[in-house]
Amino acid sequence: MSKMITVKDLHKSFGKNEVLKGIDLEVHEQEVVCVIGPSGSGKSTLLRCLNLLEEVTSGDVYIEGDNLTDKNVNINEVRTRVGMVFQHFNLFPHMTVMDNITLGPMKIKGVSKDQARKDAIPILQKVGLEEKADVYPESLSGGQKQRVAIARSLAMNPKIMLFDEPTSALDPELVGDVLEVMKDLAKEGMTMVVVTHEMGFAREMGDRVIFMDEGIIMEEDEPENLFGNPQNPRTQEFLSKVL
Ligand code: ADP
Ligand code: MG
Repeated sequence: MSKMITVKDLHKSFGKNEVLKGIDLEVHEQEVVCVIGPSGSGKSTLLRCLNLLEEVTSGDVYIEGDNLTDKNVNINEVRTRVGMVFQHFNLFPHMTVMDNITLGPMKIKGVSKDQARKDAIPILQKVGLEEKADVYPESLSGGQKQRVAIARSLAMNPKIMLFDEPTSALDPELVGDVLEVMKDLAKEGMTMVVVTHEMGFAREMGDRVIFMDEGIIMEEDEPENLFGNPQNPRTQEFLSKVL
């Protein structure tokens, strides 16, 4: 399987605060990597460095072999290959679901409006919202909004999807539908990095689970091992609180 993401000795500081302290990571095609760890450990910062929403302080990030820290790299083109879904859906409130989804392909990829709308239909079906194309986000539940956000990302036809706690802002009864969409994506072979508190999802869908603490990957393993027999005391302590 080819390497989709390679991170080498990644450091990221905000002023004097070193948040990532040397991260090495490889994600292969079709792999689902789940990232867990306490609040403030640098999980979001790591994800944001993977599509240059944050500037890297030192180290290298490669997406399909392209070094994002190379000055010549076309970051907007790379970003079309790396979709990202946030905790707070960040939909455009004044635009319908359909318009939210078609904006990126039209603006960034130059797809015609007709084509973008045609392409959006199977994506809306995939997230179970084909009936909601013409409504505005305010009339949707949190879970539906998040599924629109996923659809909006998928409309760019990304090779990699990054999820940053996609269900953390949702009422518990709405979490399942979003996780189902993510599971379907994983089964279809999408390469995914998922920061999550949903240990059940990580256990079931993760090919690998990474435990981060204090800007370091403290431990990584297959879910069965990491959850069943964690080696690092910090992992043990964290899991004893969340499981
Ligand atoms: P996590 O997602 O694991 O909760 P974050 O990556 O959000 O952790 O944050 C890690 C640390 O980086 C925190 O101390 C946070 O305050 C700091 N941090 C994150 N983003 C910024 C920013 N834009 N400016 C300054 N500090 C930041
Ligand atoms: Mg975070």
